[in-house]
Amino acid sequence: MKKDSRLPAEIAREALRVLATRHLPPTPANYQACYNEIAGFHSASSFPEGPLLQLLGRLPAADADAQRLLESVRASIQARSWLSFEESMLAYALVLARRGKEAASDVGLPEPFVSSLRTLLDAVLPVVAGEDAGFRAEAEALHGVLAHSPVERLVLQDRLVRLAAMASMAGEEQQEIKSALLKLLHLVIENIGHLSLDDQWLKGQVDGLLAAVEPPLTLRHLDEIERRLRDVIDKQLRAKQRSVEAQSELRQMLSFFIDYLASVRVASSGFQVRIEGSAQRLAQVERIEELAPLLAEVVEATRRMAEETAASQRHLQSMQEKVLATEAELIQLHLELDNASNLARHDPLTDALNRKGLDEALAREIAVVRRYETPLSICLLDIDNFKLLNDQLGHAAGDQALIHLVSVTRQCMRPSDTLARYGGEEFVILMPDTPLDKGVDVITRLQRELTKAIFMADSARRLITFSAGVAQLTAEESGEAAMVRADRAMYLAKRAGKNRVFGA
Ligand code: GH3
Ligand code: MG
Ligand code: MG
Repeated sequence: MKKDSRLPAEIAREALRVLATRHLPPTPANYQACYNEIAGFHSASSFPEGPLLQLLGRLPAADADAQRLLESVRASIQARSWLSFEESMLAYALVLARRGKEAASDVGLPEPFVSSLRTLLDAVLPVVAGEDAGFRAEAEALHGVLAHSPVERLVLQDRLVRLAAMASMAGEEQQEIKSALLKLLHLVIENIGHLSLDDQWLKGQVDGLLAAVEPPLTLRHLDEIERRLRDVIDKQLRAKQRSVEAQSELRQMLSFFIDYLASVRVASSGFQVRIEGSAQRLAQVERIEELAPLLAEVVEATRRMAEETAASQRHLQSMQEKVLATEAELIQLHLELDNASNLARHDPLTDALNRKGLDEALAREIAVVRRYETPLSICLLDIDNFKLLNDQLGHAAGDQALIHLVSVTRQCMRPSDTLARYGGEEFVILMPDTPLDKGVDVITRLQRELTKAIFMADSARRLITFSAGVAQLTAEESGEAAMVRADRAMYLAKRAGKNRVFGA
């Protein structure tokens, strides 16, 4: 700064003028600063306007209050007033500190977080709360807290802790209900076994059912139990009905037989009476010509007796044959039932292998894999929206669709592949000597073929699609484990929008 050559009095006058033009309060500090500035003196106590304004530019204006206070700080810097600078700066700092405290204790939570919490609550509530009114009320209260803006964090925390405690109790209760239901189911199945007309026939089915009713419970598991139980009940009803019919047929035949025996006795006693009469008259015969008609009578009575005996023999024989036939039918019936439960390896509707057949085929294929180290791919497929098809076209059309799928699949398969019905509308295809990528290709081709082979239900064309998962059996893996992987891939294919094939 250049020094002013004017006299101090002139400089003092000039300083007063500057004070006035700058609208600065006439404080000693301001006067001194102006004087120094005009005189060109360095002043230790000069007001650091520049650096302060720079600093001000970096201070945050978090809200309207802070903004207002920053403006008054700026004004005090421009006015070069320490006093008002101090006051407004202090007020600004206090506002900032208060906001910080509020933020720490009761921050409004970010909207995406609150909305996720709401979605989670809505999704979990029906599963966990069940019929528990208290739980529902607590969840409603939590919804209320989430609806309040900004969300009060401490209140929310408190509610969440309470809800978590209730959820844990509800979870335990549901677990207990589940195991009690399983026990009940066990009891029912055991009793069905006791009610059975033919223990041997039912033994296989009831054992299978008891094995199926074991935790962990999954929907697939329950589906399987329901199907087996229906099967048992159906077959039991049929067997019982037929057995009752056969018994009544036998009873009827027996009563015929008794009636017939009685009539034979009556007929033969008539013969005896006639013969005795003839014998008496024979004793009284005096002339030879009286003998001829008497003899003719005896011959006739004897002939009729012989005829009646032969007829009754024939009748008896035919009745015996009927009894034997009925008995044979009963034996056959039991044999068929035995077949149905223990021996059958084919699903009666589609003629694909059933579960038992699949288990055996899988064991065979795995033995080949272990021995020759060839790849085996396992595909699990599930028809898409099959329930809808059933609902719209009826169960019979649903059955036809299953048959259609099996027939198209058979056309696409190699003779060495195995097709089995795994459950309702789920099928398994075993592809020996096939690595994963080829297996996926094969099933994708089947999918295309199925799209081309239109399924007709009562002159309505209906497109049938499926979702599938394919897994290649690994070196150490069991067949069940590979099936679980295929099932998971199938599930992912469903989740990804259905009508697709995923490798596991
Ligand atoms: P998604 O695409 O998810 O597999 O749905 P979806 O409807 O196919 O599956 P969901 O498991 O809900 O329904 C399967 C239906 O298959 C329910 C059952 O009534 C039906 N179903 C099972 N076995 C048979 C059967 O032998 N014949 C007929 N017609 N329907 C069956
Ligand atoms: Mg299914
Ligand atoms: Mg399905």
